[in-house]
Amino acid sequence: MPPRHSSSTSASSRRKPTASKVSKVAPEEALRTWFRKNATGLPWRNADLDSKRDPYAVWISETMLQQTQVSTVRDYFVRWMKRFPTVEKLAKADEAEVFRYWQGLGYYSRAKNILKTAKLIAEAGGKFPETRKELEALPGIGAYTAGAILSLALHKREAILDGNLVRIFSRLYEISFLPTGKKESEAYWNYARTWADAPKGYMHNEALMELGRTTCKPRNPLCASCPLAGTCRSYRNGRVAEFPPTRRRLQKDWHGTVLIIESADGKILAANGGQAFLEGQLSLPHFESARMSTAGLPAKAEAYVNADDVESITECGSFRHNITVHKMECDVLHVRLNKSSMSRTLPSTYSWVPKAKASETFANSFSLKALECLADRADKA
Ligand code: SF4
Repeated sequence: MPPRHSSSTSASSRRKPTASKVSKVAPEEALRTWFRKNATGLPWRNADLDSKRDPYAVWISETMLQQTQVSTVRDYFVRWMKRFPTVEKLAKADEAEVFRYWQGLGYYSRAKNILKTAKLIAEAGGKFPETRKELEALPGIGAYTAGAILSLALHKREAILDGNLVRIFSRLYEISFLPTGKKESEAYWNYARTWADAPKGYMHNEALMELGRTTCKPRNPLCASCPLAGTCRSYRNGRVAEFPPTRRRLQKDWHGTVLIIESADGKILAANGGQAFLEGQLSLPHFESARMSTAGLPAKAEAYVNADDVESITECGSFRHNITVHKMECDVLHVRLNKSSMSRTLPSTYSWVPKAKASETFANSFSLKALECLADRADKA
C-alpha cells in the first residue's frame, strides 16, 4: 500500500511526537476529558453529556446524519421535532408530509423507512425496543443506528461503527485494511466494542464520532491537539498519512447495447427497473452485449420488441460511461416500430414517453448520452 500523498496531511501528523507531547493519562479518560471540554452544542445533544436521551430523537438525528453534514442537519432536525415531536405523532403523518419535511436531505427511502418504523413502534405501544436484534429488525435501522440508539440514548454498552470511527481506528491501531469483507469488518467492530463496553462507553462512542469530525479528519488531522495522540500508533510512528488505506476500486469493463425504441406515434420506450443498471430510475432499456454485435436486431432486444413490429433499425454509434465500478461502452440502436404505442399492453415496469420530452424525462446521464447519439445521427443524416 503506497503512502498517500503528503499534501493531504498536516505537518504535525507527519512528524513523530516528542516524549513531552505524549499524554500519560489513560486514553478513555483523555477522550472523555477532551469531549467534555470540546463537545459542540447540537440540538439533539443534551447539555448534560451524562444524561440519557430520547431514543426517538437519537434515531431521527442519526438517520438524518447518514451521508449529510451536521451543519445541514441542524435546521432539519429542529423543524422535524417541532412538527413530529414523538414517534406517535410521526406515525399518524402521511407520507407526502413526511417527504416535505425530509426534502433536501436526499435518499427518500430513509424517510419512507422512518415512517414505516414509526408506525410499527406506535402500534407496539410507542416504546423503542431495547435490544440490538429487535432494533435491527425494523425498516431502515442497521447496525450503526441500532448501536447509536442503545448507546447514546439508553447508555447500553453497545458499539457503533461509522466512517469516522473506521478512520480513527485505522490510524490508532495501524490497521492496513478497510472493513470491506466480513472478517475485516469484524476486526473493526471488535475495536469499537472495546471502547463501548466500558464504564461511560456511551460517551466514548459519541466522543469518537466528534473526534473524527473535528480532529482526526480525513485530511489534515489535528494530531497535535488530539486527546489520543499518546496512544495513536500511526502518530507515534510518523505514519498517519498511510492510514486508512485508500479504497481501491477495481474497474470492470462492460459492453452493452442501449435501445431507443420509437413507436409509430413518436413515443420512446422507458424502463423503470429490471435493467442491468439504474435500478429505481427511469432509463432506456439496455443489456450486456458483445462488441460489434449490432447488425440487425440483437436477440436480447426481443425482450422489448417483437421482430415483426420493427420498421427499421439504425446504428447510432456508441458512448462511454462509468457507473459505480463499471467502465462502460454502449452501442446505441434506434429501433423504429410500425405500430403505435397503444397497440401493446406493457408490464408495469415499462412506459412510453413522448420523444419530444425524452431528454427532460430521463434524469440520468446514461440515457441522455444515448439520446445525444440519436440526435447526432439525425444531424448527420
Ligand atoms: S487519532 Fe489523533 S493522533 Fe491519531 S491520527 Fe487521528 S488525530 Fe492524529
